[in-house]
Amino acid sequence: MHRALSEFACEGIFMNGRIRKRTDRIIEKAMIILRTVSELESYVGRERNNGRSIGLVPTMGALHAGHLSLVERAVKENDDVIVSVFVNPTQFNNPDDLSSYPRTEEADCALLARAGASVAFVPSVEEMYPSGAKREREFELGTAAEVMEGKYRPGHFQGVAQIVCRLFEIARPTRAYFGEKDFQQIAVIKNMVESEGLDVDIVPCPIKRADDGLALSSRNTLLSLEQRAIAPEIYKALVAGVEYSRSHGVKETHDKVVELVNSHEGLDTEYFEIVDARTLLPVEEWTESPEVMGCITVFCGKVRLIDNIKFR
Ligand code: AMP
Repeated sequence: MHRALSEFACEGIFMNGRIRKRTDRIIEKAMIILRTVSELESYVGRERNNGRSIGLVPTMGALHAGHLSLVERAVKENDDVIVSVFVNPTQFNNPDDLSSYPRTEEADCALLARAGASVAFVPSVEEMYPSGAKREREFELGTAAEVMEGKYRPGHFQGVAQIVCRLFEIARPTRAYFGEKDFQQIAVIKNMVESEGLDVDIVPCPIKRADDGLALSSRNTLLSLEQRAIAPEIYKALVAGVEYSRSHGVKETHDKVVELVNSHEGLDTEYFEIVDARTLLPVEEWTESPEVMGCITVFCGKVRLIDNIKFR
């Protein structure tokens, strides 16, 4: 397991193996920043040859405590942890969303070094897509990719599958870590792993929230002070919905949650669906499936926020 040498990783530095400081304190490997596919492939080749396990945490940067909880878990469970920081153009269907996406590379690398990552993989778009950022093939992602985010962001999951599959090919992880904040994404990635016959364990990690309940998200930095003050009402409505569901049916609960969210000026629900946790298809009765989730997407001004909660 690696611990960062300093809060700041120095570009290009590769401290291979243990180094000894003048104080005689043994310090483990520093985090390195790699920007090319071939550099990462060489690194992975060496580590794999030495029988070391690799944890991969794919991110789009603008890191917060939610991302870091995945990294910390990966550090506990693997010999090496690679964190990719790449805003993937092929998963954005709205060009404004892509251009406004926050980018904070320097701060991200400092946080990753502190969290104990071995490698920050920070490639350019050209590096990941040498023949242009476009979709080259269709992945088999099952019906889980067609509902909710799949319906409202056409092509989004094909773009996600494309980049995650590419990262899996390059980083050859033993385990890959994904947050339950993107609940549907985990189901889709699992389908992709199965249809592509990939040998990697997908590890779901719980949602990290701010003290007021708002799910941490890189997009929260785009909220104005007023919007940030109102955004926690989304989670409050979900929690109230779970309480309400104890004495009401699925449809009534659905309508109650939407009514609660939309009652706040500045919040506008795009969709709220109560679904089977495995298939992500809507349920009509609470008893219809062993695990029932409520997944919501809300516009807070122009910022699109997603969240979810377990109902049963
Ligand atoms: P992103 O950078 O938004 O693509 O997220 C990278 C990974 O971090 C994804 O697997 C997300 O689900 C996960 N993630 C983002 N926000 C949170 C959060 N609040 N709690 C847990 N995981 C998160």
